Amino acid sequence: MSNVSPSTPAGAIGSIAPLFLPNPVTLYETRARRLRLLAERDASLRGYLSFAAQVVEVQHTLSRYDNSPPMPTTTLHVDWVTPPLSMARLLQDPFWQESLTTLLAALLPHVPEPVQVVLERLRKLNATQRTAAAHALFNNDVSLIGSDGAPFLWAALSLAAMQRVARSKIVVDNKSEAERHLCPLCGNAPVASIIHPDGLRYLHCRLCESEWHVVRAQCSNCESSRDIGYWSLEKQFPAIKAESCGDCHGYLKILYQKDDKDIDAVADDLASLALDARLEDEGFGRSSINPFLFPSP
Ligand SMILES: [Zn+2]
Ligand SMILES: [Zn+2]
Repeated sequence: MSNVSPSTPAGAIGSIAPLFLPNPVTLYETRARRLRLLAERDASLRGYLSFAAQVVEVQHTLSRYDNSPPMPTTTLHVDWVTPPLSMARLLQDPFWQESLTTLLAALLPHVPEPVQVVLERLRKLNATQRTAAAHALFNNDVSLIGSDGAPFLWAALSLAAMQRVARSKIVVDNKSEAERHLCPLCGNAPVASIIHPDGLRYLHCRLCESEWHVVRAQCSNCESSRDIGYWSLEKQFPAIKAESCGDCHGYLKILYQKDDKDIDAVADDLASLALDARLEDEGFGRSSINPFLFPSP
């Protein structure tokens, strides 16, 4: 399924597609372009957004190295209960280690000296150490590589997960009422909500880049709908709101495609840190982690 279209629905039932698969051909190219545009718009975040764009551009290059035949190699069966793409299986795939090595080498000549130090530190880790760090990272533990090293490891892991999804045959069971706040394919948390132009809400996986349907006005973290609030900085980010929950005190951003068709879950979440600061002032904590912004231990 490497030739999936930009918005390939899987297992559509009635008018609602429960799952959209990532498009490995365009995803990184589109995201890098978006990050460059957002960097132009915001001088205060320009350096970091440009750095993120550099990483995504290398992901794009690496995604094009994959010359494996378009035949499905695996079947991933989405039953909405147990994610079929296990992290243990992903880590056995040598592809992510190769991607990480190439990514570090490609970035090294183009980043400032403090970042070079981080890259060199990661380069010196052997495969066993990298795997241990990745295991920890899946549990939001950055202690083995630091929050500054985590985005590079995650970039390689995310690319491997997306390639695995794109190369697999995806079988989707009828939607169940089971827990919906984690990715039904890989079990990771969403980076943000996306409201598609038809008004349906999807959560965007921070690892494999799939999107799955969830109802609106419900907390994406604890599923409560008792005390949901919406926050925005409309002048700065007219197409973004944050959805807060009074029960778990978490929040997740919601990105509206009808207001900005080019909006990107990872890029626009990263570029709207002012909204995060506002929510933190109000006593809410992020329920998601952006792949370029891992919290310090
Ligand atoms: Zn996923
Ligand atoms: Zn909640």
